[in-house]
This record gives sequence, C-alpha cells and structure tokens, in this order.
Amino acid sequence: MGCRKRAAKRELLRVTAGSDRDGQPAVVPDPTATAPGRGAHLHPTQECFDLAVRRKAFGRALKTSGTPGLSSAPVAEHLARSHVRPVNT
Ligand SMILES: [Zn+2]
Repeated sequence: MGCRKRAAKRELLRVTAGSDRDGQPAVVPDPTATAPGRGAHLHPTQECFDLAVRRKAFGRALKTSGTPGLSSAPVAEHLARSHVRPVNT
C-alpha cells in the first residue's frame, strides 16, 4: 500500500486496525508483525505513509472504511520515533 513500490516483506512496516491511547479506533504500527487480524504493509517512511493517508489506503486495506475518524496518528508517531529516512529505490 502507500506508494505501491515493490519491497520485501521484511523491509515493510505492518500496520493493523487497533485503538490509540485514548481507546479510539486507529491504525497502529505492528513492527513485530505479531498482532492478530487484518494487516497492511507499507514502507516505513514518511513518504509512503503520507501517500497511504492521502489515498485513504488504510481504511481500504484494513476494511475499516466505515469507521468514522479513523486515526493513523500512532503510525505517524512510530515513524517519527524511528527516524527512518526515505529509501531511494
Ligand atoms: Zn511504499
């Protein structure tokens, strides 16, 4: 999802539908890829994340399109913390 460039799964960040720290529905990062349920993968870059947000790709991939106000802030925070630079591919 996101930029739709191909990548090995181990290079991608898995995200799942979960809840943020206020208990609201949110897209949450699953760096260990162990969370149950439907997941989606994106490059762990701000660039790819922004594209996914703009395309509303999270709602589609996680089948949460009906969830009002689905937040992807936890993923943004995760990316900000991990200081990952966009990969030139
Ligand atoms: Zn990407």
